[in-house]
Amino acid sequence: METDMTFEYAPAPESRAIVTIKPKYGHFIGGKFVPGSKHFPTINPATEEVLSQIALAGKADVDAAVKAARKAYTSTWSKMSGKERGKYLYRIARIMQERAREFAVLETLDNGKPIRESRDTDIPLAAAHFFYHAGWADKLEYAGLGTSPKPLGVAGQIIPWNFPLLMLAWKVAPALAAGNTVVLKPAESTPLTALLFAEVCQQAELPAGVVNIVTGDGSTGALIVNHPGIDKIAFTGSTEVGKIIARAVAPTKKSVTLELGGKAANIVFDDAPIDETVEGIVNGIFFNQGHVCCAGSRLLLQESVAEEVLHKLKNRMEKIRVGDPMDKNTDVGAINSKEQLAKIIELSAVGDAEGAERWSPACELPSKGFWFAPTIFTGVTQAHRIAREEIFGPVLSVLTFRTPQEAIEKANNTPFGLSAGIWSEKGSRTLWASQQLRAGVIWANTFNKFDPTSPFGGYKESGWGREGGRHGLAAYLKGVSHE
Ligand code: ADP
Repeated sequence: METDMTFEYAPAPESRAIVTIKPKYGHFIGGKFVPGSKHFPTINPATEEVLSQIALAGKADVDAAVKAARKAYTSTWSKMSGKERGKYLYRIARIMQERAREFAVLETLDNGKPIRESRDTDIPLAAAHFFYHAGWADKLEYAGLGTSPKPLGVAGQIIPWNFPLLMLAWKVAPALAAGNTVVLKPAESTPLTALLFAEVCQQAELPAGVVNIVTGDGSTGALIVNHPGIDKIAFTGSTEVGKIIARAVAPTKKSVTLELGGKAANIVFDDAPIDETVEGIVNGIFFNQGHVCCAGSRLLLQESVAEEVLHKLKNRMEKIRVGDPMDKNTDVGAINSKEQLAKIIELSAVGDAEGAERWSPACELPSKGFWFAPTIFTGVTQAHRIAREEIFGPVLSVLTFRTPQEAIEKANNTPFGLSAGIWSEKGSRTLWASQQLRAGVIWANTFNKFDPTSPFGGYKESGWGREGGRHGLAAYLKGVSHE
């Protein structure tokens, strides 16, 4: 029975007292924090409060970090037994768990994502990546990647702002397990948890120089990519920058893995369990404000159930709580930056201009900070830019189809191929569809599920190589193809 009664939630704010943010940070090089020269602010996107001043690494800083990483590689880390390396990784994982609340609060303040997500998803998964790879460190010869697999050397790792600590874990854990040392650069808008991770490395007494963290923007990233002392580049970010990196490393001997954009199809067949599907659609596009490369941003509905799904989806969206990311009841937090908000606004305006129909639930957005209401566009066709380009925000484009074959053709009609979702009660249909879809990760009757044991990566412009699982290890070992 439906009633009009609604609950008013009392505020449930998480305390920020657990974190100590320094007014200014330097780089973490050779096991120590060293002062930077130039600085830029990092802000809380929910309030626009300046949280700290972050160092912008130039050539001398990147040189020093690469030198420290090389020294640690040749003198310590590559000589250490896998069993010993594993102990350090276990230690890091345990400290991350012990300090999980501190990491979660810091992530939410710097990124704008709801505390519920940083607490229940980002931080536990980051620790899980270290635990998982700690287990591999002394078993590399049994991974089916050759009898005596050897590390590559120094890895340069560049990560985005959507899952700051989790992306660090995806990069650092396999590199270290395989015996490499790293120079990592967090994104300019979310450097704080990487800097806290540097403290964890000190606390774990990780040998100096095994992990080096330099902060900065794209110019620092480019210095890492083009540094001759680096053996491997691992990048997660936009397809645009991924292409620049691919061109830069093509004439070199550097290995490279790229995790780039996506425009995932989330396909709902007429036999799908509708209520469960609606939850999956919401999770697929509104999780982490839609700042997810594998977000289910193209909803493909079989015509016979389209009306029912849309009706229920709109009802469900009315109940999404947008607002203070530090409130434990919040579902959708702040957009990460002013620049990203401008991109979302611009592409959504293109959707209006192209004739798609925009709908958002009534929701009051805070006056300060960067916000965008959960939005769906119906009447979208394949030619629309909002069906083709990654919006990277809480915006869902809805298309329809009549036959399963048409669904597959529409789903594959994209330059990307990172992920896809299938909603159907028939196992045979799910298996058939998953074999036709050109996407690296396919979820059935669920969405946005991540696990360190499962390889993640894309087809086409979504990237090169895989991260996670046994496949992800291969990308940090010599002479093993990572495709
Ligand atoms: P987004 O558009 O989502 O911000 P980017 O691809 O621009 O994603 O950023 C991802 C990461 O790549 C960030 O750490 C950023 O500083 C870095 N970056 C940006 N431009 C370059 C570049 N030309 N070379 C290397 N790294 C870069």
